[in-house]
Amino acid sequence: ALQRYASIRDKPAETLCGAKIDLMMNAGLMADLPSLPSSGAEGVGLFRTELQFLVRNQMPKRSELSALYARVMDAAQGRPVVFRTLDIGSDKVLTYMKPNDEPNPAMGWRAIRVGLDKPGILRMQLQALMRAANGRPLYVMFPFVAQYEEYTQARAEVNKALERERRLGHPLPSKIEVGAMLETPSLGFAPRKFFEEVDFISIGGNDLKQFFFAADRENERVRRRYDTLNVSFLSFLEQIVERCAASNTPVSFCGEDAGRPVEALCLAAIGLRRLSMRPASIGPVKSLLRRSNLEELRKVIADTRHRGAMSVRPAVMEWLRDQ
Ligand code: PEP
Ligand code: MG
Repeated sequence: ALQRYASIRDKPAETLCGAKIDLMMNAGLMADLPSLPSSGAEGVGLFRTELQFLVRNQMPKRSELSALYARVMDAAQGRPVVFRTLDIGSDKVLTYMKPNDEPNPAMGWRAIRVGLDKPGILRMQLQALMRAANGRPLYVMFPFVAQYEEYTQARAEVNKALERERRLGHPLPSKIEVGAMLETPSLGFAPRKFFEEVDFISIGGNDLKQFFFAADRENERVRRRYDTLNVSFLSFLEQIVERCAASNTPVSFCGEDAGRPVEALCLAAIGLRRLSMRPASIGPVKSLLRRSNLEELRKVIADTRHRGAMSVRPAVMEWLRDQ
């Protein structure tokens, strides 16, 4: 199998029906970057910046961050890298910040909520990213945006940082795209202007599924009860993809399910054209995509829904066995 993945490494993830899927990788540490060329990824679809903060025992300095982000962009050799601003709180706790005693941290003061209430770190991070880009394009996205106004407030921080950098005479990125992670159901129902104004959306399926089913992603007992290929969840994902298509907003999926071949295939069948996953998953996902006809799979999914089944998985597995 490894050899088969190596032989398709430089080939596109193109299905039998001619759909071209962008496969990107998730990363968060420098150690992840050597896998970029060898995995065949078209870029980094999710760079989890909090990992750099979590592996230290004191707050990193802006100059350190900027040097690090520059090395990440260098390693990507012109391929896009989507930097997600700090997603702390919930399960990710910084030892050098005052602990925040919350009964329900996954739904608590985390991610962009911290970034907007205490913008010091967010501002430092945005400046570090702009300095690292230094004439190159910059892609930034905000974690855990639950409503339109949080996106506009965070975007205003980007504009302020850009203005500040300009005043200081620092070189600026050649362009900046500002995206949001869609990982709370509420954002899927945001007003149309959100979809029109956001530069891109990345669906964080791990959190989105947790909040869709109200089932803790860390709790094996309840997590396994709900299938990603559950028809209700797939319908919701499909509606998000349709809203993005209606406003011409690029959309990707970067949760762990993107790296599971059967799940990835179904995500492509409901219209996703960009998936971001751990590097080792790119070969297996690409291999299955290249052997599949999404139009047929779409029919299998539609028939299953029509029958009122709970999950499309059994029908999809049967269809795959018949291939
Ligand atoms: C997600 O929630 O799907 C996601 C990609 O972010 P994380 O797993 O870091 O919460
Ligand atoms: Mg998340």
